[in-house]
Amino acid sequence: MNILVTGGAGYIGRHTVQSLLEQGHSPVILDNLVYGHRDFLESAGVPYYIGDIADAALLRRIFREHSFDGVMHFSAFAYVGESVTKPDIYYRNNLMATVELLDQCVDSGIKTFVFSSTCATYGEATEEFISESHPQNPINPYGRSKWMVEQVLKDYEHAFGLKHVILRYFNASGAHPDGHIGEDHEPETHLIPLVLYAAMGKRPDIKIFGTDYDTPDGTCIRDYIHVCDLADAHILGLQKSLTDNVSINANLGNGSGYSVKEVIDACRKVTGKDIQAVEAPRRPGDPPRLVAMADHARQELGWNPRFADIQTIVEHAYNWHRKRHD
Ligand code: UDP
Repeated sequence: MNILVTGGAGYIGRHTVQSLLEQGHSPVILDNLVYGHRDFLESAGVPYYIGDIADAALLRRIFREHSFDGVMHFSAFAYVGESVTKPDIYYRNNLMATVELLDQCVDSGIKTFVFSSTCATYGEATEEFISESHPQNPINPYGRSKWMVEQVLKDYEHAFGLKHVILRYFNASGAHPDGHIGEDHEPETHLIPLVLYAAMGKRPDIKIFGTDYDTPDGTCIRDYIHVCDLADAHILGLQKSLTDNVSINANLGNGSGYSVKEVIDACRKVTGKDIQAVEAPRRPGDPPRLVAMADHARQELGWNPRFADIQTIVEHAYNWHRKRHD
């Protein structure tokens, strides 16, 4: 398949480009390098364009120069806290620019649009395991911007016939097993990289945000999913949508939750380092527990995560961070 990958120089986008290449497909990257990495762009060895998804002239050129089977749309701003103080840039970039991109897709006859959505569209969990039919009540502008695009996609399918694959990620983590690409955010706010930075001596400790939650050890529980498994699901989703001419909504998680303390313990085991953990106040907006009911993607797409174990996820992440930062 020929596929346009927006945000292909970012964390999940670049791993998907890698999986596409490993499976014999032909990705083309569009990235504005605001959060993407130039070395990720260059190491992919595929055609790329540096620019914005809202740049209609650039998109028209890209669609003229290539014939795509589908578009995978990763580029977005994704800091929940920032979205609360700067909702304007989240709605402009994640919603309005995506609508521009969608219009170009419709004009160019693209059949399927694969969209990076998030479990943040569900808001506070009212079920132990979150299924696709869980009510969607996002509690911050980031989650709302993604939820809004989901609604736009449904309307665009109805009006213009553009199929969609909406994939709601739980906690993307890990790195490619060979260690040449991985997670590198600036600023970094995610748990696993920060714990590993503490292990590597780049930070004095890791703060545990809240130890009084209603969970077995008092810390928040999340469903960590390996970035290469996420990547595989995008390819399976696009293939299924194109073959059966259907739209798909699916959660991407492992269906098993780990607490902050369990993640820190896994990092201690993998690194062999005595990581200092410091109890700190709750981080505003953190739901106590977010774990996927992840059967739908397995049954619908035949998806079978290869690296479901937290230990393996941390091992791959550590391998990458040592290469990147040591
Ligand atoms: N967390 C923490 N210390 C940190 C960063 C994160 O205790 O320095 C917690 C955070 O409160 C949440 C979990 O780790 O409960 C996962 O956070 P992350 O930011 O990685 O992902 P999120 O679930 O917010 O998307």
